[in-house]
Amino acid sequence: MLSANKQIAIIGGGPGGLTLARLLALQQVNVKVYERDLDKNARVQGSPLDLHENSGLAALRKADLFDEFKNNYLPGADKTTITNERAEIVYSDHGTKKVEDFGYEHFRPEIDRGTLRKILIESIQAESIVWDSHFLSMEKQGEGWLLHFKNKKSEYADIVIGSDGANSKIRPYITDIKPFYSGITMLEGNIYDGENKLPRLSSILRGGKIMAFGNKKDLLMGQKANGEIGFYASFKAEENWAAKSGLDFYNKSQILEWFKKDYSEWSGIWDELFENAITPFIPRPINCMPLDQTWVALPNLTMIGDAAHLMPPFAGEGVNMAMLDALELSECLTADKYHSVEEAISFYELNMRKRASLIAEESLENGEKMHSRNALTTMTSFFSGEN
Ligand SMILES: Cc1cc2nc3c(=O)[nH]c(=O)nc-3n(C[C@H](O)[C@H](O)[C@H](O)COP(=O)(O)OP(=O)(O)OC[C@H]3O[C@@H](n4cnc5c(N)ncnc54)[C@H](O)[C@@H]3O)c2cc1C
Repeated sequence: MLSANKQIAIIGGGPGGLTLARLLALQQVNVKVYERDLDKNARVQGSPLDLHENSGLAALRKADLFDEFKNNYLPGADKTTITNERAEIVYSDHGTKKVEDFGYEHFRPEIDRGTLRKILIESIQAESIVWDSHFLSMEKQGEGWLLHFKNKKSEYADIVIGSDGANSKIRPYITDIKPFYSGITMLEGNIYDGENKLPRLSSILRGGKIMAFGNKKDLLMGQKANGEIGFYASFKAEENWAAKSGLDFYNKSQILEWFKKDYSEWSGIWDELFENAITPFIPRPINCMPLDQTWVALPNLTMIGDAAHLMPPFAGEGVNMAMLDALELSECLTADKYHSVEEAISFYELNMRKRASLIAEESLENGEKMHSRNALTTMTSFFSGEN
């Protein structure tokens, strides 16, 4: 096997890196994940993730973690209600969608990010994850790389795999291509004890998701396992909106004022989101890697997930692509059909770029549709056609 007797370093313990570590470890490969979080209890932010049959779930099946997933997913959290800006329901699949439909292509069960991370962490030997390892730089040493971390430690690896997300520090060692801004910014908020704090919106949410469209702006929200409701105001904005807006994201009343002004056509029911959210709100400019990006494969360095192909979240594919990368790369690195690691990496990267480019294109198109004047009708017919 190509990876036999090689030390592999995975930089970043997100869903992509941890899935890869699990899949390689199952093949007896020496692998270590270097993660900047101080320990496994770091709070994982963001909305729940929906896993797809032929990517995220396929990777979990191969990792022998499918049953764990089934024991921990959020039944019903994938059910969707679409409303207009007055919170009037125009579409709901609560009455029609099955709670459990594994094996069906359009069944996209949701799981909390933190729970998915926990399942993956617990599937890997504790000593294979090196916490508090914030990667800073590396240099060539012999056939491999000497990695340097913020905690002043240095480690050697024969093969390095970057899975350090959107602002990857590994990417510049492979290519100087940079992400571009999609034109859309999302402002993330979180509400503890959502059902009690937001009785009116919770009765529409019903443990699932709401997508509200109006006047080229969106509000997207979903139930989390711990009773929190996560939401995003999603809108077109100039680049660096967060800095240029002058808003203080720790100041709840300031953000509520901004919402009332910028979403002025929206009914007062939505104000509850901003009144009850914890601070700070998190502005997330949505970036994407160029669709035609390419680079020359290196003999001992590659990347997966957002590090390789950051894309907007409007097709719900980011984590699925990261986990499928992990599946495909693990197969390339452990198969006997390549003559060298470089050839295996080259084969993986060629497929990965082609696949990710198509999905990123779809994600960009969805982003445009969801922020267009016709968003409500377009998205309603999209969801109606699926069931
Ligand atoms: C607002 C928003 C909503 C989204 N919604 C969805 C959705 O519904 N469905 C979906 O599929 N995707 C969604 N995504 C995208 C999804 O979150 C990502 O595609 C996915 O998390 C990528 O996984 P990853 O493992 O590649 O990177 P990440 O999840 O970003 O993990 C990277 C890891 O690397 C670590 N790290 C970073 N830098 C370093 C360093 N220098 N040294 C060491 N460790 C480092 C980080 O701490 C982290 O643990 C959304 C994204 C956003 C912004």
